Amino acid sequence: MTAQNLPSEPEFEQAYKELASTLENSTLFQKKPEFRKALQVVSVPERVVQFRVVWEDDKGNVQINRGFRVQFNSALGPYKGGLRFHPSVNLSILKFLGFEQIFKNALTGLNMGGGKGGSDFDPKGKSDNEIRRFCVSFMTELCKHIGQDTDVPAGDIGVTGREVGFMFGQYKKIRNEWVGVLTGKGQSWGGSLIRPEATGYGVVYYVDHMIKYASGGKESFAGKRVAISGSGNVAQYAALKVIELGGSVISLSDSQGALILSGEEGSFTPEEINQIAAIKVERKQISELASTAAFSSKFKYIAGARPWTNITGRVDVALPSATQNEVSGEEAKALIASGCKFIAEGSNMGSTQEAIDVFEAHREGNQGATAIWYAPGKAANAGGVAVSGLEMAQNSSRVTWTSEEVDTRLKHIMEDCFNNGLATAKEYVPTAEGSLPSLVAGSNIAGFTKVAEAMKDHGDWW
Ligand code: NDP
Repeated sequence: MTAQNLPSEPEFEQAYKELASTLENSTLFQKKPEFRKALQVVSVPERVVQFRVVWEDDKGNVQINRGFRVQFNSALGPYKGGLRFHPSVNLSILKFLGFEQIFKNALTGLNMGGGKGGSDFDPKGKSDNEIRRFCVSFMTELCKHIGQDTDVPAGDIGVTGREVGFMFGQYKKIRNEWVGVLTGKGQSWGGSLIRPEATGYGVVYYVDHMIKYASGGKESFAGKRVAISGSGNVAQYAALKVIELGGSVISLSDSQGALILSGEEGSFTPEEINQIAAIKVERKQISELASTAAFSSKFKYIAGARPWTNITGRVDVALPSATQNEVSGEEAKALIASGCKFIAEGSNMGSTQEAIDVFEAHREGNQGATAIWYAPGKAANAGGVAVSGLEMAQNSSRVTWTSEEVDTRLKHIMEDCFNNGLATAKEYVPTAEGSLPSLVAGSNIAGFTKVAEAMKDHGDWW
């Protein structure tokens, strides 16, 4: 089938164009024209598995969902990437996530290919028994297509340690083997310490390098006002790490609305973040907490809104950490108008192309203090999959590393990720005198060239 005959896949096409345009606008294809062929080949998944998931609800009714696994690229290692359970899930979204995952995994420096999967199942409002029955049915089919040396899924939106546990148990029963086939496992049965925290912590470690590089080592998170969206796994741990490093968290959100500090002073406290984490385990909305006396006296809750245009006072750092396309071009302009200098995506493809264009336009020229540093998700949120890779290494060698050891490795990986993107941008991306290097272009080129070279060695293109 020719590309013209393929169904429209808006999210995947957006992710493809974002990567391809940064390669085109660099000197990569002038220096290595043969890499155009690699781009064509890498943008088609090696395999897509789609299957039926039939399960029984608490009333005894038959429920049907769609299950997917996109095994996108295995040049660097077994397919690796999360499972998303959300009603919006479709092939376009999973292909975009799998495509991003290939280059993100390459940036970690670990041997992992790229994949993504999930289902249009909505865990909200389901009982634990319904979630267990769904996970068992989902894994009954998925287990035929994955394995510790083939494809190692993890969690993503809607998939926490609980779901990973149910799926791991079913894999073990059917295959009669205890292997590290999923990451994000419970700590008593093979999970890595720091894996739950890794994505959020990793984003903050990455931004810490941006801030230090930009200020010549003079500044840090201390005193910075940080706007965060989302209130799930990534947002919670990013928020806690920001506070630990001396910054203030001034917003969080969920799919129903945004919770924003009312005044220009103060921060969410770790206790408030823990309260939010507790209601999220029960899949409740932050609006429930927002109406309590303790929260309503300190925060404003705006139903149906994202934080970016609703912050009171200055913003120094923005960490979109909910879902794709959660910063529009207009919101990007509003963030810059609020003083924001550092944007790093905890979420995958958190910014629309229009938002990226706004951020990138503000790194050009001698804009001094207003110059913007923008880090794409595939670099900034790579800490999650990196620690998943460390979990695989621990499982294979049947050892458990301490929190300190995993955290130290995570810090080094995020530092390398930042330095690699920066150095590659300087090498390949023409930049006006006085402008900042493009971390988005540098990260895309660094990830892409590593994968393309391995594919060439394997005879995938020539
Ligand atoms: P969670 O399910 O734990 O949390 C997701 C958060 O985003 C919730 O607050 C949720 O609100 C909100 N959200 C979900 N969908 C939407 C939407 N359509 N509009 C607005 N808000 C929404 O997921 P994670 O924290 O794990 O993932 C967040 C992002 O980070 C995703 O883009 C994911 O792909 C990415 N990511 C996650 C990694 C990980 O290790 N977990 C690794 C790398 C990237 P509500 O509670 O109301 O549903």
